[in-house]
Amino acid sequence: MSASLIDGKAIAQQFRAELGVRVQRLKGAGVTPGLAVVIVGEDPASKVYVRNKALACEQIGMHSEVHALSAETSQQHIIDFVRRLNEDDDIHGILVQLPLPNRMDSRAVIEAISPLKDVDGFHYQNVGGLMVGQAAFYPCTPWGVMKMLEEEGVQVEGRHAVVVGRSNIVGKPMALLLLNASATVSICHSKTPDLGAITRQADILVAAVGKARMIRAEMVKPGATVIDVGVNRLPNGKLAGDVDFDEVAKVAGRITPVPGGVGPMTIAMLLGNTVKSAERGAGLGAHAETRIA
Ligand code: NAP
Repeated sequence: MSASLIDGKAIAQQFRAELGVRVQRLKGAGVTPGLAVVIVGEDPASKVYVRNKALACEQIGMHSEVHALSAETSQQHIIDFVRRLNEDDDIHGILVQLPLPNRMDSRAVIEAISPLKDVDGFHYQNVGGLMVGQAAFYPCTPWGVMKMLEEEGVQVEGRHAVVVGRSNIVGKPMALLLLNASATVSICHSKTPDLGAITRQADILVAAVGKARMIRAEMVKPGATVIDVGVNRLPNGKLAGDVDFDEVAKVAGRITPVPGGVGPMTIAMLLGNTVKSAERGAGLGAHAETRIA
């Protein structure tokens, strides 16, 4: 391996420690930041994600509550539930764990969340804020990638960034954040012919596809920064990213591992957005010395 490892776990730990200080400051002002997570149905992966989020809140002194609703719950009931959370002064962030059961209109549920408590950054108002480059809650995974690049001192301005994947939760917001940071951005997807011809141009390559090890060494420009968002379960039960780590690490300049790269950053950004929401509600600005806006 010649690439240097971007240790998302260590960076996230540092951010969480800084957030812990902000939580204590809020508590001193009589406010405990609170995150409410709504999960519908029994998807095992979603349950693990939700548990990890709740645990992460507790570790830095935040309040968290998990509302597990049965898969049979009506869409209207979920919307009413979310609206009650909007009115709850102890709750500063609301997250509805996706995917929702197929029969539901996820968009209708997300739009019921107050944009001021939409710490996932999926409400149209926050999506619009990202689009026009104004302050908003940004989706946690791509926002975590940006923070990781910043922390590693990776120059974004003027560089060619290639994002593989165009989902609303990762690929598209990732591309917009990179564009807002003045990268030249290409977005690739399943209909992109000759993917390698484009990924080989990338100074910064972000893979957000969901296909184990599909980014191979010959698709990467020597010295590039490679960010692997993918989380794929292999038949042997282990996790793998979208990047063929062992081979690509011989070519890239910097690379994130899976696990221990983007995943921990996503959770740190969720905490950061919730703390920010609580600070806003309490009329407190973010600590100048902390790096999560
Ligand atoms: P998604 O909604 O399934 O989107 C996948 C994207 O990849 C789509 O835009 C798709 O193109 C594109 N794609 C599929 N096959 C391709 C190919 N052969 N060549 C180029 N592009 C291709 O997935 P997602 O929600 O964005 O998630 C992507 C990955 O990130 C998953 O592994 C997920 O588990 C992981 N993830 C990780 C975190 C984290 O915190 N670490 C958070 C969220 C997601 P089309 O649009 O043309 O179909």
